[in-house]
Amino acid sequence: MAQRNVDIAIIGAGIAGLWAFHRFKRMGYDVLLLESDSIGNGQTIASQGIIHSGLKYAFAGKINDLAQNISAMPDLWRTALRGEGDIDLSSARYNAESQHLLIPKGFMGGLVKLVTKQALGNNVHEVPKDEWPQEITDSGFKGSVVFMDEPVLDIPSVIRALAEPFKGSIRKIDTPEDPIGFLERHEIYPQQIIFTSAASNAIQASQAQHNNGLETQKRPLLMGMLKPAPYPLYAHLVGSSDKPVATITTHKAEDGELVWYLGGGVAERAKEAAPQEVYEATRKGFAKYLPDVDLAAVEWAVLPIDRVEGKSKTDGWMPDTPTIHSVGNVHYCWPTKLTFAPLLSDRLLEKIDLEPSGNETDFSFLQPVEYTKTPWDKATWTKDS
Ligand SMILES: Cc1cc2nc3c(=O)[nH]c(=O)nc-3n(C[C@H](O)[C@H](O)[C@H](O)COP(=O)(O)OP(=O)(O)OC[C@H]3O[C@@H](n4cnc5c(N)ncnc54)[C@H](O)[C@@H]3O)c2cc1C
Repeated sequence: MAQRNVDIAIIGAGIAGLWAFHRFKRMGYDVLLLESDSIGNGQTIASQGIIHSGLKYAFAGKINDLAQNISAMPDLWRTALRGEGDIDLSSARYNAESQHLLIPKGFMGGLVKLVTKQALGNNVHEVPKDEWPQEITDSGFKGSVVFMDEPVLDIPSVIRALAEPFKGSIRKIDTPEDPIGFLERHEIYPQQIIFTSAASNAIQASQAQHNNGLETQKRPLLMGMLKPAPYPLYAHLVGSSDKPVATITTHKAEDGELVWYLGGGVAERAKEAAPQEVYEATRKGFAKYLPDVDLAAVEWAVLPIDRVEGKSKTDGWMPDTPTIHSVGNVHYCWPTKLTFAPLLSDRLLEKIDLEPSGNETDFSFLQPVEYTKTPWDKATWTKDS
């Protein structure tokens, strides 16, 4: 078997691996991206696709590095979506160009506005009632509506835009428990190895005895889904705690039906919790704040999933930036948010200190790997409530 010297091997084709892979390939690096399941699998396809501006975190009292660091991200994504710069996302789609913060009547509206203005500048403004989007009026909501300059992206199209131009270099790993052994078995010798395999990263780091000083955390969610959604809605519905009652995004299922995907407070519970808890929290929240939304005939589903990230040193919240734990030429990475994928790849580039070889190894001797399916197309739906 011919020995193959490549520049970089990346393990895990979620957003972190895909973004770095696409960028490095365009720069002329010889890169192999290995995936154990399907391209875009894991948290990436489960995400709501929100490119956060930091407003949600500012609202939660986190007027800190997180809100500041993340506020630079929407511009980077928009540049990529125009097909300009290091990444070409011109074939990816927006689900919505912006979204709204719904602050129910009597809920600290003035305070929120002050906080968000201080944290993030003027890209946030209250929408006068006669300019409210029709769907918000139709929901029966009463209170203040704040415009948020946060795009919501169609994640399957983002995944394809990143992967498709270089799909021949994305291959299946059949021994995910031993990526290094897989590379050795196929006589592939990368100069740099990047782990972007979420929860698997820490296992790999531990096996390689690279875990000194490494701390990670998992934060569980039980995401809700309902269909048919009456209309597209993209909103953080604020309540009395620091988490929104619900973060609602809208997605199209394969059968063309609209799905509301529900994160935020309604989803903040153990993965093992009864699905009923999510339905009930949603019904209760909607009855209180969006009373004209009729949930009588909808179907429901849930998705149990962990957010996996570096451990925040301070308060168990998510870290302020992506986490990279490097030992020599091996780098273990967690973006913290999908939104942070551009910043993660910037930081990786600083770390790897390697000139692109300009080579393009033919990896067709390895198995190809398919795109993943969305949670709503994989879900088991029920009418019971
Ligand atoms: C429900 C939910 C909603 C979210 N919504 C948002 C949002 O709206 N906006 C936002 O900015 N962030 C959001 N996030 C956070 C964001 O999704 C994650 O931070 C991000 O997707 C993590 O990307 P990743 O590539 O590190 O991991 P993942 O997306 O989990 O990808 C890891 C990949 O590695 C593969 N893999 C695992 N083990 C191996 C192995 N041994 N070998 C090879 N491959 C392997 C997996 O199959 C998978 O494809 C959300 C997270 C969740 C859970």
